[in-house]
Amino acid sequence: MPNYVIDPPAVVTLPIAGSDDLFPVRRVYCIGRNYAAHAIEMGHDPNREPPFFFQKNPNNLTTGESFPYPAQTSDVHHEIEMVVALKSGGINIPLDQALDHVWGYGVGLDMTRRDLQGVAKEMGRPWEIGKAFEESAPVSPLRPVSEVGHPAAGLVQLKVNGKPKQTGDLNQMIWKVPEMISYLSDFFELAAGDVIMTGTPSGVGAVVRGDVMECHVGGVGDLTVTVV
Ligand code: MN
Repeated sequence: MPNYVIDPPAVVTLPIAGSDDLFPVRRVYCIGRNYAAHAIEMGHDPNREPPFFFQKNPNNLTTGESFPYPAQTSDVHHEIEMVVALKSGGINIPLDQALDHVWGYGVGLDMTRRDLQGVAKEMGRPWEIGKAFEESAPVSPLRPVSEVGHPAAGLVQLKVNGKPKQTGDLNQMIWKVPEMISYLSDFFELAAGDVIMTGTPSGVGAVVRGDVMECHVGGVGDLTVTVV
């Protein structure tokens, strides 16, 4: 046993649907502006600019049914996203082998302090302050490829208090899952435990305490989170 000078941080895990098994998380990559209508609503040209990614911290992921309203913001937005969980990785992964590295899929929320992200964008600063805060990424239990295959089409919908706010389809992604994996692997070494959040359709908006966010990704699952 190594003699750690402090207690080692806990391994972050995501539950598996219908099982006591756990998926251990290594890194969290998030793609920006991956649905054309969302790129437009954020003031950008959706014409297939190269993809770009930011990261959240593994321990920003939660599996709780509540999302604590975060500090230092008055404009927290919901972004529903399909989540990809990798069982292996590597560098320079060819497009036609990319899906071989996927363990399974889930439904996630890339909660965003939009006001702080806006200031960061304006000042050319990194996005962590808007994106990588405590409990900023609620995720549903994962389901394995053996159950759900590789979903490339299907409804992506988020309702707030029963009213549809975001509605899209997985087939509207500008960069598809294999392209994201292959592209990321040209810049980073991907590995088992890496998680990719695949972008959000249009209709992002603010939530307040008490709001109930119901998330559905067709063929993948559901996630219900209350803002507290
Ligand atoms: Mn996002």
